[in-house]
Amino acid sequence: MQTRAAFASRQNVPIAVDLFDLEGPRAGEVLIGMKAAGLCHSDMSFFDGSRAWSDYPIVLGHEGAGVVLDCGPGVTSVRPGDHVIPVGIPECGECPACRSRKTNLCDRYFQPTERRPFSRAGRPIRAFCELGTFSDRIVAREMQVTKIRKDAPLDIVCCMGCAGATGVGSAIFAAKVEPGSSAVVFGLGGIGLNVVEGCRIAGASRIIGVDVNAQKEQAGRIAGMTDFLDAAAGAQATIGAIRDLTGGGADYAFECVGAPDILRQAVECTRIGWGTIVSIGIFPGAQEMALRPRSIQEGRRLLGAYLGNVKTRSELPQLVDWLMDGRLRMKDLISHRIGLGEIAAGFALLARGEARRVVVDF
Ligand SMILES: [Zn+2]
Ligand SMILES: [Zn+2]
Repeated sequence: MQTRAAFASRQNVPIAVDLFDLEGPRAGEVLIGMKAAGLCHSDMSFFDGSRAWSDYPIVLGHEGAGVVLDCGPGVTSVRPGDHVIPVGIPECGECPACRSRKTNLCDRYFQPTERRPFSRAGRPIRAFCELGTFSDRIVAREMQVTKIRKDAPLDIVCCMGCAGATGVGSAIFAAKVEPGSSAVVFGLGGIGLNVVEGCRIAGASRIIGVDVNAQKEQAGRIAGMTDFLDAAAGAQATIGAIRDLTGGGADYAFECVGAPDILRQAVECTRIGWGTIVSIGIFPGAQEMALRPRSIQEGRRLLGAYLGNVKTRSELPQLVDWLMDGRLRMKDLISHRIGLGEIAAGFALLARGEARRVVVDF
């Protein structure tokens, strides 16, 4: 079958839309008709010059929601008509990581697959995260397909598979934010706003947002932010202001930008003894971070998490429940809706920091 999909042809060339051939589902695979897909900075890294990558072209998109159209042999967890969220990290359910309570990083995530359902002129084409959600239809492995309740709006839960899981999960599943605590969120984009939501749901009493764009303040406050700091004041002023607001240092800090100097600020602004820092933002290229060893030795904990340490198939549906019972306010997160043909303009909005989440409606 044929499908329209958005892809990167190489670095520093805008994302484009073209027709691709899509092979139907083989054993253990699912054909999904996409209904909506969210634009994420990590898609952008394949065409804005910030990622070392050579396997072009690549169909992009790793966040979205859709309806199962067909299943290959052996698929048991979903059937045609089911509503699903394709997820970048598989949950095979069998590997040591899946069996542990400690991580969502299924061993299969790190095992390359040669399978390429997309092709063009007979040449198999790679898809980001083995998904490529910027396509009318996709074929995904069952272990990368999360079944969700049918009353959840697909045009909102489409942001759950990356931004929602990463943000909310980083606060609740990774940092385990405690009621009455204080938290700082660096970067109020699609991820950061969901971290704010996660902190609010966890019962944090003070949630400080830091961003270079003062227009992000309103969205931050809707998500539950109590204080806003303009990052233009500089690192020392920001750290000082956070220490003043929290009486010596925040209990938690979340770096959602992907910049070594901001990660350092996130460490320095937390409290001695138990400050917990979660590194979320993707660092472009091969950057290294410079931290004072003492700031960790003083009892702080620096954590990393992909997708907020949310197990993608068994735990993600719980976040959908939180959306449906009103605890999560994710719909305010979506600032722009576009058609697939406008996707280059959508990414331009994201690049300029003018959008929270941009969603493609199919
Ligand atoms: Zn993403
Ligand atoms: Zn696994």
